[in-house]
Amino acid sequence: MAHDLVYPTRNETPKSAEISAHPFATAVDPEADRAIASSQPMSSEFNTVVIGAGSFGAWTALTLQRRGRRVLLLDAYGPAHSRASSGGESRIIRMGYGPNGIYTRWSMRSLALWQDLLARTGRPLFHRTGVLWISHPGDEYTSQSLNEFEQAGVPHETFTETELAHRYPQISLDQATTWGLFEPDSGVIMARRAVAVVVDQAIREHVLYRCAAVIGPADAASGERKQQEPAAHLDGVRTIDGSLISAGSDGIYVFACGPWLGKVFPGLLDERIFVTRQEIFFFGTPAGDSRFGCRPEGRRYAPPALPTWIDLAHEAYGMPDLEGRGLKVAIDRHGPAFDPDTGDRQPTAEGIRQARDYLARRFPAMANAPLVESRVCQYENTSSGDFLLDGHPGFDNVWLAGGGSGHGFKHGPAVGEYLAHRIIDNAPGDPRFSLETKRAAQQRAIF
Ligand SMILES: Cc1cc2nc3c(=O)[nH]c(=O)nc-3n(C[C@H](O)[C@H](O)[C@H](O)COP(=O)(O)OP(=O)(O)OC[C@H]3O[C@@H](n4cnc5c(N)ncnc54)[C@H](O)[C@@H]3O)c2cc1C
Repeated sequence: MAHDLVYPTRNETPKSAEISAHPFATAVDPEADRAIASSQPMSSEFNTVVIGAGSFGAWTALTLQRRGRRVLLLDAYGPAHSRASSGGESRIIRMGYGPNGIYTRWSMRSLALWQDLLARTGRPLFHRTGVLWISHPGDEYTSQSLNEFEQAGVPHETFTETELAHRYPQISLDQATTWGLFEPDSGVIMARRAVAVVVDQAIREHVLYRCAAVIGPADAASGERKQQEPAAHLDGVRTIDGSLISAGSDGIYVFACGPWLGKVFPGLLDERIFVTRQEIFFFGTPAGDSRFGCRPEGRRYAPPALPTWIDLAHEAYGMPDLEGRGLKVAIDRHGPAFDPDTGDRQPTAEGIRQARDYLARRFPAMANAPLVESRVCQYENTSSGDFLLDGHPGFDNVWLAGGGSGHGFKHGPAVGEYLAHRIIDNAPGDPRFSLETKRAAQQRAIF
């Protein structure tokens, strides 16, 4: 089946645009700059505090501000830093979620919002590589994704095994391969830089941003956990240097602390958010060989010879050589428990071996490719993989946002809209995202 890959698309990346070396360097709004310069924001300047400037918190801050709240955004280490789950080089934006159509619809909505922001700010950080699901015998997930695509109107193509072999000769199809489901409009977002763009835009729209490490409200407000008591009203949060940050009498506090949520709310969340160590590898592609990537050709980028792919039979995924970084490969199995502050971020020999084995099986021409880069990140998993987006049971003005579970990055824009709808419009919550549905034993269903 033929299809045209246009790369990049007209909508997402204006050709004249250049990526700024540091997005904050371009915060030219004088009023926003003045606000950044003042060292101690007055509580009258904001009535909402968002703690955590990863994908979830940054988009929530921007969305709440656009909905009329006055937001102070805080982060202990900075937006999408190297220890944050959003701090990776790249993240897949795909629509396939098996039977879980809500995530398909959220991905569609989020991709549109990411593309709108990147186009408006002139940052070409989305690579429309396409996403290929390599299906295998007994794989219902991909068939269920296909059903959801038909209902939701997601552009897609299906390939037989023969078509796959013809189209992607660099992929070795083993007996476990039956057919392929292709999402031509999906791709990869350059994650760390994209979050910085969101925060930069939020600052331009008069969100205040500060570097501050917040202590969980159990200590800051009352010294005890309030789970069993009637909801209290949080008057402010304390930072580790002892400052009190208060959003005033109608203040709202959103804790979007990703893998730190269990530390910020011990007792409430440390058994409901499972932080696992995950390794990612970039392998160097052969010299003069464009089968594995997207290479600049003149002033345009060539269509990718290889799409981003998801290989459920081998619990693996990867993406082509983007921006010369190398072919990215990861095994999507939960690793051991991990501390996001102090965990060792050097790859293990076993992790490298597993990635190499997989690479040799699926991409024989890459069997002896050099490892050019690696990263250790963490998933902040809930029991099912469904996000946690809910009010704190002990406070009437505290919200919890996290549980990205290895697939949350893309959904930042939809998460922001969902929370704004709940907080501002008093909309009822979807049980899927409630604290109550989060268990202490892992049964991964969403990925
Ligand atoms: C290896 C890997 C691959 C992934 N691949 C994909 C993918 O392909 N597609 C996809 O959509 N998703 C993917 N994900 C998942 C996605 O990256 C995460 O779900 C998402 O980034 C989580 O965002 P977050 O904002 O909740 O958390 P984070 O990005 O971790 O942000 C939380 C922030 O809160 C701050 N913070 C915490 N505690 C405090 C405190 N007390 N005071 C102040 N600040 C605080 C932290 O400093 C941090 O910046 C992947 C994740 C990993 C690890």
